[in-house]
Amino acid sequence: MSAPQEILLAEPRGFCAGVDRAIEIVERAIQKFGAPIYVRHEIVHNTYVVNDLKAKGAIFIEELSDVPPGSTLVFSAHGVSRAVQQEAEQRGFSIFDATCPLVTKVHVEVAKLAKEGYEFIMIGHKGHPEVEGTMGQLDHGIHLVEDVADVARVQPSQTEKLAVVTQTTLSVDDAAEITAAVRARFPSVREPKQQDICYATQNRQDAVKVLSPQVDVLVVVGSPTSSNSNRLRELAARLGTAAYMVDSADELRTEWFDGAVRVGLTAGASAPEILVQQVIDRIKALGAVSVRTMSGIEETIKFPLPKGLKIDAATGLEITQRNPETGPGAH
Ligand code: SF4
Repeated sequence: MSAPQEILLAEPRGFCAGVDRAIEIVERAIQKFGAPIYVRHEIVHNTYVVNDLKAKGAIFIEELSDVPPGSTLVFSAHGVSRAVQQEAEQRGFSIFDATCPLVTKVHVEVAKLAKEGYEFIMIGHKGHPEVEGTMGQLDHGIHLVEDVADVARVQPSQTEKLAVVTQTTLSVDDAAEITAAVRARFPSVREPKQQDICYATQNRQDAVKVLSPQVDVLVVVGSPTSSNSNRLRELAARLGTAAYMVDSADELRTEWFDGAVRVGLTAGASAPEILVQQVIDRIKALGAVSVRTMSGIEETIKFPLPKGLKIDAATGLEITQRNPETGPGAH
């Protein structure tokens, strides 16, 4: 029985710009307004991140009725439906929206095309909060398909003005296959100019495609609720590489590495690098002597923070354009 010799790290891996921004919004809101800050749904789907923010003073809730009047509320990176947005406004919370701008882009597109009379086919996973948020931009006329079989069943009320939108964190290959089925059934369907699957999802899957054939086993760091992390594990498995997903180093099992010489390691867009480092330490303890990072795309994208939480990099002072009497940076 041989122990692993080498760890190959995927590049890019781990946090994306939307996750970085969402976490920073919660941390800055706690600093500025004091604990507790309420967050609707897990800010991002990662156990470590959620527990860390809980320790700093965040309270995670699903129902707005659990938020006391006058509280500050953050919407998670996955986005919310219009009904949730309206209810939060009616309840008078100070709201900071940590919806990833790439999810907001899909919401804006849905609202714009709906005004032009479009109906939608949404490709995504039922019950995922991003899907609920995007579908909840409209009262009707948006139909969810999860796979090719669903495409055969879907019944839009008209087909002249039909558009397709997708969850941002899907398998790129699955989404392409389902979109092709939509196109085959509805040849005039309108597709997004640029795909809705985000750059981070695409780049992490591309890296796994390069890495998987070079390793005997692949470990993905990510929580079970993380869509993009699950897709990374599935992708490696489809490519014929034994692949496992762990929420933390404690979940690693030594038998996974029996006979494995090279171990690949990546992390979903919501998984922090500290967990990757803990996994590296654990695999090193089994015998791996070298750690090598694959060459890959360098991600430089960064999303701005909402007004009321921005800090001027030069002065270190808060940037605010609001009248102090109108209250905190709610929008
Ligand atoms: S995975 Fe993509 S859509 Fe989700 S937060 Fe990151 S950049 Fe935004």
